[in-house]
Amino acid sequence: MAVQRKFPSMAAKTSPQSAVRSGLRDGNAWSRLPLSVANAFLEMVYPPTCTLCGGALLPTRSVQMCDACIDAVRGSCRHWCRRCGMPMEPMRLEERKCNRCGKQKLPFEEVVVLGRYEGAMREAVIAGKKYIHEPLVMALGELLGQQIASRLDPIPEIVTFVPSHWRRRLGRGTVPAATLAKQVGRVLGRPVHTATRCTRGTTKQGKLAADQRARNISNAFAVRRRYHPKGRTYLLIDDVMTTGATLSEVARVLLAAGATRVCVAATARGVGKN
Ligand SMILES: [Zn+2]
Ligand SMILES: [Zn+2]
Repeated sequence: MAVQRKFPSMAAKTSPQSAVRSGLRDGNAWSRLPLSVANAFLEMVYPPTCTLCGGALLPTRSVQMCDACIDAVRGSCRHWCRRCGMPMEPMRLEERKCNRCGKQKLPFEEVVVLGRYEGAMREAVIAGKKYIHEPLVMALGELLGQQIASRLDPIPEIVTFVPSHWRRRLGRGTVPAATLAKQVGRVLGRPVHTATRCTRGTTKQGKLAADQRARNISNAFAVRRRYHPKGRTYLLIDDVMTTGATLSEVARVLLAAGATRVCVAATARGVGKN
């Protein structure tokens, strides 16, 4: 059954219930109520809804997305290459790498993805680039965290994310990769560090051909001043992985500064048709 998506995140973002849930209670009347009482009351007045289709959800649900929408964003593919994140035949899973990346030198050790960058997942990722749809990104982050917990062993010590240039942050008012990382860190019980920064503006990777992408982001990232990745292991998060050029560049920067292991996770894997 097709899922009708209304992207109701504006309501979720601005409701008192959302404010309580996201811990923004300080400095207003809600902060004087015990959290459980406030939540119970608000759930009666503002029942929780799916961040993708707007359908009603049970108050006890941990992910703010209904089962139909979770199935829609995950898609039918359940098997991914652990090295590059491309869809993979189940019979090759034991080899841990696919035909495409077998001879490729990649700076990251493993990749975890939630679904293909197509259909409902593509709609959700594009919507998530806008500030008003941050609750939708938080729901995707929760799902991604669960996926990582079931796929990666051991899980790296620190969660980090692909940084955005300040001009892009200013324009959008949100950094989806940072929101995803925050949720993933919460699910996995790992700290989230802003380990890297953009050193210059870049053209959006989606607008460039595959061979132009590596050039576009070459030397565009650096470890933050006074931050020391030496001897640490990282889980690097982004919303979309297409050629992997951006994630490779940030992973390379962390490893060059002394990180001992970098794994990568993205909500959506572009497979060449978008
Ligand atoms: Zn839904
Ligand atoms: Zn592969």
